[in-house]
Amino acid sequence: MTTPSRRPADPVQEWAAILEATPPDVRQRVAELVQRHRAALAEAFYAEMLAHPQAHVFLDAQVVHQRLHASMQRWLGELFAPRQHDELAAIVAHQRHVGEVHARIQLPMHLVARGARFLKGRLLTTLLQEGADAKQAERALLYIGDLLDLALELMAESYVRDTQREARSEEAFRLHALTQNLQVERERQRFLLANWGQEVLFALHRGGEPLVLPTLRGSEFGLWFMHKGSNVFEGAPEVDLVLRGMERVDGTLLPQLAASTAGDPAHHQALLLQLQSELDNLQYLVQMLFERHVELESGRDALTRLLNRRFLAPILAREIHLAQQRRIPFALLMLDIDHFKQVNDRHGHDAGDVVLQQTAALLLNHVRSSDFVFRFGGEEFLVVLVDVPPAQAAAQADKLRRRIAAHRFDLPNGVTLQLTASIGVAAWNGHPDYQYLIQQADAALYAAKRGGRDRVCVADDGPVAQAAAPTIGA
Ligand code: GH3
Ligand code: MG
Ligand code: MG
Repeated sequence: MTTPSRRPADPVQEWAAILEATPPDVRQRVAELVQRHRAALAEAFYAEMLAHPQAHVFLDAQVVHQRLHASMQRWLGELFAPRQHDELAAIVAHQRHVGEVHARIQLPMHLVARGARFLKGRLLTTLLQEGADAKQAERALLYIGDLLDLALELMAESYVRDTQREARSEEAFRLHALTQNLQVERERQRFLLANWGQEVLFALHRGGEPLVLPTLRGSEFGLWFMHKGSNVFEGAPEVDLVLRGMERVDGTLLPQLAASTAGDPAHHQALLLQLQSELDNLQYLVQMLFERHVELESGRDALTRLLNRRFLAPILAREIHLAQQRRIPFALLMLDIDHFKQVNDRHGHDAGDVVLQQTAALLLNHVRSSDFVFRFGGEEFLVVLVDVPPAQAAAQADKLRRRIAAHRFDLPNGVTLQLTASIGVAAWNGHPDYQYLIQQADAALYAAKRGGRDRVCVADDGPVAQAAAPTIGA
């Protein structure tokens, strides 16, 4: 094998080790092979990638073809050309730079890997076609494979780093765009959308041959929505509805309206009503977007003022990082109110809301200020207990459970209720993916429900309520 048994961490050293492990005549042969065939390789590479629908988007332009063709040939040549040790740092740096470019153009990494796989295969066939003997072909193959893999690894490294940075600044932009005078923006867009409706009416009234109606897409509202709104609200289902509404208006309704001015007045009137209803609908959707995102962006749940899921990922990622780097353990509690539906059914939805608010307050009052309390779903709460050993997490969960069971919930209708909750506990156990931990807490919660409710279950450990009780002060 050309791969050194004890891998040095420095990529320059690794590059050098691959070169050293390969006999000079093999390196020479590969260098010549690549030199001779690099134009054909680049051409075949381009054709292959162009046939891939996802890659097509990135390559389908004359300028890309020309530049890629040239740079692919240069890159291949550089990779396999005979090298002195002092040239390697520059080559390593170049691979990283390529990764940065890929990140910038958001070229998916799997496409890069696919390209590398294709090149490897092509080089092998070419080598065999040229009649290399088995021994030499084997050495050459290992060499080609090792260098391509190392180059890909270096690209991937800077790709991931840059993509993460990109994602962070995108997030920052979104927050910035939103927190900047959100109320003002909301009113402005409401006005601009209504204003566009007025302009259409004026244009219809003015008439003219041919009758030109201002499109919604070209209006100030349309431009704002396309370039900022849809980005800021990305992921919300209303975004698509707004875009489709705009298309319906511009593509169908406006041409119909323009054509109907000379025709049946009743038909024209009906179309005007349709326009009004589309406009009302768009206003509603856009206001919804603003409203929901004020809540979401603030990171708080409107009813309970607890954290909503928006910051769940960064908070858990940070706790995992602390646990990995500094061995600070943490745990998740997944808490669900028992038979909550009955509260709604018997006392009304408002009563249910009050119970949720009081539960939230209870939780906040009985965890440390360094812990995090999320409203995870309807009547489900997620508590992140920081800096606790696993055994204490279960005890803490049981304390919360007993607090809830002892609480008297005062409802708006004057009724006082007692309720219970079930809790699943999952202590961090070294898994780097926080989703896994949530699943564990969720499974433990499910076990607590199945076991009869009003109890604590620890992931993989069965019920602890009884076992833990003697050790906890109430
Ligand atoms: P279990 O003990 O198995 O958890 O039973 P449950 O009745 O608590 O659970 P289920 O999931 O059947 O019902 C949860 C109910 O919570 C259904 C839903 O209408 C209600 N709910 C969800 N969000 C809210 C809310 O914001 N306010 C109110 N009042 N009710 C809500
Ligand atoms: Mg419930
Ligand atoms: Mg539930």
